[in-house]
Amino acid sequence: MTRVQTGGTVILLTTLALTCAALAGEKTAWRLFVSDHSESIVNVIDLLKHEKIEAFATKAPARLYRSKTGRTVLAVQRGADLVTAIDSGISFEDHGDHGDLKVKPPRLLGVEIAGKQPSHVVEHGGEIAIFFDGEGRARIASERTIQESKPVLRKTAPGLPHHGVAVTNDRYTLISEPNAQNSGELPIGISIVDKSGAQIGGVHSCPDLHGEATSGNILAFSCASGLLVVSMDVSTPQIKHLPYAAALPSGKTTTMLGGRGLQYFLGNYGSDKVVLIDPAEAESFRLVTLPMRRVDFAVDPVRAKFAYVFTEDGRLHRLDVIAGEIDGSLRVTEPYSMDGHWNDPRPRLAVAGDKIVVTDPSRGVVSLVDATSLTKTGEIALGGRPFNIVAVGGSGQTHDDE
Ligand code: ZN
Ligand code: ZN
Repeated sequence: MTRVQTGGTVILLTTLALTCAALAGEKTAWRLFVSDHSESIVNVIDLLKHEKIEAFATKAPARLYRSKTGRTVLAVQRGADLVTAIDSGISFEDHGDHGDLKVKPPRLLGVEIAGKQPSHVVEHGGEIAIFFDGEGRARIASERTIQESKPVLRKTAPGLPHHGVAVTNDRYTLISEPNAQNSGELPIGISIVDKSGAQIGGVHSCPDLHGEATSGNILAFSCASGLLVVSMDVSTPQIKHLPYAAALPSGKTTTMLGGRGLQYFLGNYGSDKVVLIDPAEAESFRLVTLPMRRVDFAVDPVRAKFAYVFTEDGRLHRLDVIAGEIDGSLRVTEPYSMDGHWNDPRPRLAVAGDKIVVTDPSRGVVSLVDATSLTKTGEIALGGRPFNIVAVGGSGQTHDDE
């Protein structure tokens, strides 16, 4: 829309009709991709129809990763040494003055990226680095080439097997430095290598490296000592260490999420706390104590001031990340005690438009919570033990000629 001032009157000129074929209207689509805790399957739910529309067989139970655009879902099957690419069927195209939404059936892309023990997947600037713990190296793909069924662009040199991570841009790769004394331990830092594999500078120390996230133009890794804060958008990546504040109790962050719309990081910190991290603030760390031990957490990509934390008593808490406090709670499931194995089937969260979705593996359903009123609005039965979940979708325009 263009705002034109004529003789004291404001006229809104709609330019859509001039720049595009006639618009048929606005369309909304949301899909949930849900893997099972023990079965090798990825279910696809149409969230508007409240029904399962597809199920893809995988080779092993999968962890799910969605690309930033939401066009691609990667099913990481550690037990089968394989990553399988799924086209979500939902894509957006920027038409300048509006965005177009295209919806097609979800499908397997025929791209399977094989390697020993795939683990962390990190997308940065259109390139997706998949770390393979069993080989100590990353295979790097891009969403564009995956969508063209050409999977891997390049891979880093093999290294000591370790539980690691890599982040890449078109010139450099940041890769975890294994603990040479005991590669079964977490990595000790981050190295920068160029495209020829040559290391640039020394190792940036990050003891017990585990967890990474991006918020805006800042990338962060979590360490036992604090965070490594990285700027990738400069000629050579710049890395700074941000130590945990002395006032924090002993603990560390091992899983982080990056704020969307607001630049911050949300991490775990001990079993019953989360920490809000703003590297730009003098007081960078704000600890939030939860009423019970934490099961999972998610940031809200639309309502930027909110994140959600699910606790073992079956309650979902809304965290106001500006105030640094919980401002609402809702009982969603039966309790899921954090005693027992870390990988027991317990709920996982995703945010899909105005819904917060909670998997409930004991009951074989996903529960839907309205994000504004924080009330339960329904559930969708899947059977099995619904576990990992990602949501893909949004709203956009459609054109008459489609
Ligand atoms: Zn258009
Ligand atoms: Zn891990």
